[in-house]
Amino acid sequence: MNNEKILVVEDEKSLSKLLKYNLEKEGYRTIVCNDGEAGLAAFRKEKPSLVILDLMLPKLDGYEFCKIVRQDSKTPILILTARKEEVDRILGLEMGADDYVTKPFSVREVLARIKAILRRVSGSETPNAVLRAGGLELDLEKYESRLNGKPFTLRSKEFEFLKCLFSARGKVLTRDELLEKVWGYDKSMEIDTRTVDQHIARLREKLGSEAGRIVTVKNVGYRLKLD
Ligand code: CA
Repeated sequence: MNNEKILVVEDEKSLSKLLKYNLEKEGYRTIVCNDGEAGLAAFRKEKPSLVILDLMLPKLDGYEFCKIVRQDSKTPILILTARKEEVDRILGLEMGADDYVTKPFSVREVLARIKAILRRVSGSETPNAVLRAGGLELDLEKYESRLNGKPFTLRSKEFEFLKCLFSARGKVLTRDELLEKVWGYDKSMEIDTRTVDQHIARLREKLGSEAGRIVTVKNVGYRLKLD
């Protein structure tokens, strides 16, 4: 059992019921709201540990909900979306959600994501100030990434990925380990590990002169080149 409280904002009753049933089975206290306005009111009153949020909602949609909540709260938000093309916007600065699951979803996947997010959040309560390798810096307190002293934008998964590599202190992390630690997948879910490679290709572009810090270990995974 645990005492985490989860707010589910979803107007499809069959889905909210399914989520509530399974969340409670896992020991989460669960509150369900069927529209965005009620969701926002419950969010303020109940102060949940995490929000599962549908995008298409009556009264106040998930986009607006997210923007309002993010004005003064870092509470993790897991988005349920039917549209994959929305992902960049969902995870981007405008909305600032933590993760997403596409509909139709498997309950197992939702539970795995929730666990990963909550683990991440509780881990960040004891921040180790600033991680550094050459010109690359991760500031865990400010959740800021800097390249040669200048802040630059990373998606939350990219930040988590680098954090994982830093905490391995130069040792290799396999693609499976990274999928599990950063993306919250478990091995039985048969996710294509090339997903990791695609994310890393994009991340390397952002790292510019420090791109070589992420070393590919052929057929195994990745490691961080420390100084
Ligand atoms: Ca809906």
